[in-house]
Amino acid sequence: MERKFKKNDHGFTCMSCGHQVEKLNYTSRDHCPKCLFSLHVDINPGDRNNTCKGLMKPIDIEKNQKKGFVIVYKCNKCGELHKNKAAVDDNLDAIISVMNRSYDVYLEKLIKKNN
Ligand SMILES: [Zn+2]
Ligand SMILES: [Zn+2]
Repeated sequence: MERKFKKNDHGFTCMSCGHQVEKLNYTSRDHCPKCLFSLHVDINPGDRNNTCKGLMKPIDIEKNQKKGFVIVYKCNKCGELHKNKAAVDDNLDAIISVMNRSYDVYLEKLIKKNN
């Protein structure tokens, strides 16, 4: 299979919290380490070929045995779901708050279902 991952590592200003995000030196930086928001710019990781450019909100955290934390995003503009690996310097509090939020949503659904 063709490897579609393109290295595209540069800093940017977060569209959500305004944080000046510095580049990562080991892989493409694709989200803000402070608030975890991302932008819908890639079709394949790092290609920046997506014209959507919507703000992507972290809605869930998955734990992957190989990759560690994987952040699940939903695009505010087109609604597409997307997954990004968490970076080493991501704010752990932000990750935990996304986890708690997704757990609350899950509980809410469960309660609604049982009523
Ligand atoms: Zn941010
Ligand atoms: Zn989008």
